[in-house]
Amino acid sequence: MKYSLARAIFWVVSFLVLATAPMLVAYLGPIAPRTFWVEVGVGVGFVGLGIMLFQFLLTGRYAGVATAFGLDSMLQFHRQMGLAAVGFILLHPVLLFLSDPTYLEYLDPRVQLPRALALAGVTGALILLLATSLWRRSFRLSYEWWRAIHGLLATFVVFVGIVHILQVGYYVSDVWKQATFIALGAGAVALVVNTRILRPWRMRQRPWRVDAVHEEGGDASTLVLVPEGHPGMHFRPGQFAWLTLGDTPFTLQQHPFSFSSSADAAPGRLAFTIKGDGDFSSGARAIRPGTSAFLEGPYGYFVPKEDPGMGCVMIAGGVGATPFRSMLRTFADRGDPRELHLILANESQDQVIFREELEDLKARLHLAVVHVLEDPPKEWEGETGLIDRDLLARHLPQNPLEFEYFICGPEPMMDIAESALRGLGIPQKRILSERFNMV
Ligand SMILES: Cc1cc2nc3c(=O)[nH]c(=O)nc-3n(C[C@H](O)[C@H](O)[C@H](O)COP(=O)(O)OP(=O)(O)OC[C@H]3O[C@@H](n4cnc5c(N)ncnc54)[C@H](O)[C@@H]3O)c2cc1C
Repeated sequence: MKYSLARAIFWVVSFLVLATAPMLVAYLGPIAPRTFWVEVGVGVGFVGLGIMLFQFLLTGRYAGVATAFGLDSMLQFHRQMGLAAVGFILLHPVLLFLSDPTYLEYLDPRVQLPRALALAGVTGALILLLATSLWRRSFRLSYEWWRAIHGLLATFVVFVGIVHILQVGYYVSDVWKQATFIALGAGAVALVVNTRILRPWRMRQRPWRVDAVHEEGGDASTLVLVPEGHPGMHFRPGQFAWLTLGDTPFTLQQHPFSFSSSADAAPGRLAFTIKGDGDFSSGARAIRPGTSAFLEGPYGYFVPKEDPGMGCVMIAGGVGATPFRSMLRTFADRGDPRELHLILANESQDQVIFREELEDLKARLHLAVVHVLEDPPKEWEGETGLIDRDLLARHLPQNPLEFEYFICGPEPMMDIAESALRGLGIPQKRILSERFNMV
């Protein structure tokens, strides 16, 4: 994660403005006040809607948002704020019914059938949104279907919410207020249309082809991609892109993978190294050269500084080695003299991805590689066990404050490495993490 204070402030202010905008607009101008709890009940509904609207910006993969906080922190924020939004919106009818039971007629189909159906539907949608987000695996929902359902439910909630506000009309009788609410709803829909329709449509104009598939150690395979009829894509080492394989980008199967090739081989040739983990990634080995592909990106800020005076300590576990291969190959292609340390943890020797290649790279770079094996062979004299504070302390460079620290691997390893580095006196701003597990 990389932190940009100015952008973070901008996005926090944007969040506060958008989260409170529906309430501020509603309360502007003369309104006959009702009881305190009725106003609180209405207020939480407006705030819930405002927070929900902001989620469409957060999850639309807009570079500015991610630059401010880093992708993993942003998704954490989305998760927490999404829960808050659902809580606020569900609290809205509860507070109203408790403070004035006549509001129960909103749910009475005999009074107004469409309204009762819409409000019951939105309540069900909110509960589903919450349950599928918290217990996706218990519902046996694949990540792709969960993402699609999540987006549809959220759009439905925002749509019904805005129609409900306009229909009740108590706070939005002025035309300008109605126009503002319609614009907020249209803005959310526009973001969804951009993410789900316009972006794939633009990707379709720039197809790629799998040129080669190489088997790697650790059950991983590298897909080499070349552009079809366009110049390709520039990226910086450590970045990632969303990959879709097959004839159309209009599919639920779109997965993020770090570039594993040299940034200097781009834009006309790039590679991803994929380790079988689930339904999509396990199929990577079976991909045939000639398969069509589509890319969205590049994204990410897990990128070393250009300054060759700044060394890098790279801490990887398993498939987390992929972004480091891109960094190392790029440094080698550029003849970059900086001091590099790679600490690479794996279960066993045959699980190490890029083992031979790392030896070759050592000859071209100022690079020290430390392998850490959980289950080493008998003759092994290197590090064993898991990465922890003592192991890191043994292998930190002489002048640790002149280095950037990159961590990528399984969640527990990342947590331990992050806190161990901080404990060893490395400032947080020097530590960059890339988490492969988004939810
Ligand atoms: C920034 C980033 C870079 C990555 N780079 C690499 C890499 O270089 N090599 C590699 O092997 N893996 C990489 N991954 C992980 C890879 O994206 C997942 O392993 C893959 O998407 C799993 O999909 P699946 O269908 O095979 O497995 P599933 O069993 O469907 O999913 C396993 C887990 O992967 C995550 N996941 C699944 N689908 C998606 C999706 N569409 N978007 C986001 N997360 C998803 C979810 O957390 C899910 O619980 C990266 C992930 C991220 C976030």
